[in-house]
Amino acid sequence: MSGKNVVLFGPPGAGKGTQAVKLKDLLSVPHVSTGDMFRENIKNNTELGRTAKEYSNSGRLVPDEVTIAMVKDRLGRDDMKGGFLLDGFPRSVPQAEALDKILAELGIKLNHVVNIAVADDEVKARLAKRAEIEGRADDADPKVIENRLNTYKNQSEPCLSYYRPQNIVRDIDGIGSIDEIFGRIQKVFA
Ligand code: AMP
Repeated sequence: MSGKNVVLFGPPGAGKGTQAVKLKDLLSVPHVSTGDMFRENIKNNTELGRTAKEYSNSGRLVPDEVTIAMVKDRLGRDDMKGGFLLDGFPRSVPQAEALDKILAELGIKLNHVVNIAVADDEVKARLAKRAEIEGRADDADPKVIENRLNTYKNQSEPCLSYYRPQNIVRDIDGIGSIDEIFGRIQKVFA
């Protein structure tokens, strides 16, 4: 199996979370989801959570400074040595640059950026549906959905151009059943 230092990438609603759970089992690596970490902090009403809430509720990114510090702390722990699945990070070019620096300091190289590709219209439809099912505050309002999509386009998508020259982006067609999409992802690690 090729390397297990993995970033899972894609627009909101691409099914990253669903695929991450399956992929971390396949790879037997820790799943590090910045969205989950923020939600946990929001639930526990920590200082970090109060900051995160302000941004995530309106569909904006939590400031890089805060997010990078949180991820740096997590990646420095011993359980990362056998690989990791980063889900929802990086989401901006400064975050991608910071990740390279953190990994270089740890003597680790990123092996794959698994990019789950889904067209805009499909993303909108999925987010609206998820709002109904999960009742997530950041999915509930069409304006917030629009903000999250714009944030993705303007801040997150440029990460792909950052990574392409490193030949580590694996583009996955994100249309299909959960198992079909996972089948495509599995091929990256075959
Ligand atoms: P997610 O569950 O990955 O969609 O994340 C939910 C929300 O948490 C996002 O809309 C952002 O407000 C925030 N968030 C998650 N990951 C990041 C990140 N890497 N940088 C900044 N904000 C993030």
